[in-house]
Amino acid sequence: MFILETNNSEETQDLASKIALKLWAGSTILLTGDLGAGKTCFTQGLARGLNIKKIVNSPTFTILKIYNEGRLPLYHLDAYRLSSGFQDVGFSELIEDDGVMVVEWPQYLQPLLPKQSLNINIEWLSADRRRITISATGDKYINLLEELL
Ligand code: ADP
Ligand code: MG
Repeated sequence: MFILETNNSEETQDLASKIALKLWAGSTILLTGDLGAGKTCFTQGLARGLNIKKIVNSPTFTILKIYNEGRLPLYHLDAYRLSSGFQDVGFSELIEDDGVMVVEWPQYLQPLLPKQSLNINIEWLSADRRRITISATGDKYINLLEELL
């Protein structure tokens, strides 16, 4: 487990972008933290690190957004709207093992989640400060985490 603090959204995005350089086809990142913590902000940094130029915003109304223009496809899921109960309306068929899957509110998407992932928790400290806790499940993610240190 690795804990750090960022002082503004750029620092959070820089961290994400550094992580993005180490991701592979089929990798998964789970993002937890309250509303406004910075999960989408982190995803924007990942997109930058994957060389995606399109603006990434919260896919709240679509559950899934796919960005195909970068080093790897990015599958951005926001399960917040599934909080009343998991319902797969066919989006899982759109997610392939060829890209990076990033999930906001993974607790609402449990049946769909792989067993191994990089897990990022973001806590609000003050207007511009966040505590970011990174943990890993599975050898590949543990290696990734070690490379970040
Ligand atoms: P979430 O997706 O977790 O609901 P967002 O990423 O949409 O949250 O919003 C986070 C907000 O907090 C953004 O407006 C972002 O600019 C701001 N912010 C301020 N400081 C930070 C920081 N250190 N890290 C991430 N976001 C920050
Ligand atoms: Mg969000």
